Amino acid sequence: MSQSNPPSQVCLVTGASRGIGNAIALELARRGYTVIGTGTSTAGAERVTSQLKAAGAQGRGAVLDITDPEQSESVITEVAGEFGPISVLINNAGVTEDNLLMRMKPSQWEKTLTTNLASVFVVTKLCLKGMTKARYGRIINLSSVVGATGNAGQTNYAASKAGLIGFTKSLALEIASRGITVNAVAPGFIDTDMTSELAEGQRGRLLEAIPLARLGQPEDIAKAVAFLVSDDASYITGQVLHVNGGMYMSS
Ligand code: NAP
Repeated sequence: MSQSNPPSQVCLVTGASRGIGNAIALELARRGYTVIGTGTSTAGAERVTSQLKAAGAQGRGAVLDITDPEQSESVITEVAGEFGPISVLINNAGVTEDNLLMRMKPSQWEKTLTTNLASVFVVTKLCLKGMTKARYGRIINLSSVVGATGNAGQTNYAASKAGLIGFTKSLALEIASRGITVNAVAPGFIDTDMTSELAEGQRGRLLEAIPLARLGQPEDIAKAVAFLVSDDASYITGQVLHVNGGMYMSS
């Protein structure tokens, strides 16, 4: 059965100050949702607030380091008090700390796994109470193509992104009966700060591996996420939507 659509839905987008998260926040705002977009700095949060204001959207930016469980709890409680319970959660914030395993420091492993996976456990749990009560919710986790394929130099990152896929499918099974869907979007190589440090040669080789012959834009991912949030996707749960220009075709 169809659920009420925007503007009654409150969306939390983590890591909305830049890149893919920023495009997701603006796409959801354009579609009429109330959007809370987080960044780790005051400047990042303020930029999100002004972007939402300029778009005539409901919502605001918020400062949040998702590796801080207490801050996550206080931000989510504050948002719920101000706008109503969060019904759409986009777990987007993520980091890379690339290195070959033989050279990887424990701190690089820990930072990546804590930010990309452990924090998703904390933030999702905090949002679930409201969704369960409303018997409605949408959770989208940003995985990655490398979570499915692996990538030399990214054992930490690929493990975190593969972990998110297992998390997505298991949680989807646990809460489907409550009217909450849980899906993952697995981007390929998207033109953001995260990929801007690639050497020219590496970029060229990557392009050769992408049948659609271009890096993805953050908006390509935002549109896929917005679809999974929409009522059009109400019968889709526990799935991984690969958005990668054809560079990897899952079975
Ligand atoms: P990005 O441009 O590097 O932006 C990362 C975002 O995450 C920023 O808003 C950043 O906030 C936030 N963030 C980082 N650490 C955080 C923390 N501890 N707490 C809260 N927020 C934090 O990354 P992106 O390329 O847009 O990637 C977004 C997501 O898509 C990530 O999960 C990434 O793994 C995934 N992904 C990206 C690609 C790609 O090719 N770009 C491919 C596959 C998957 P600040 O601005 O405050 O630092």
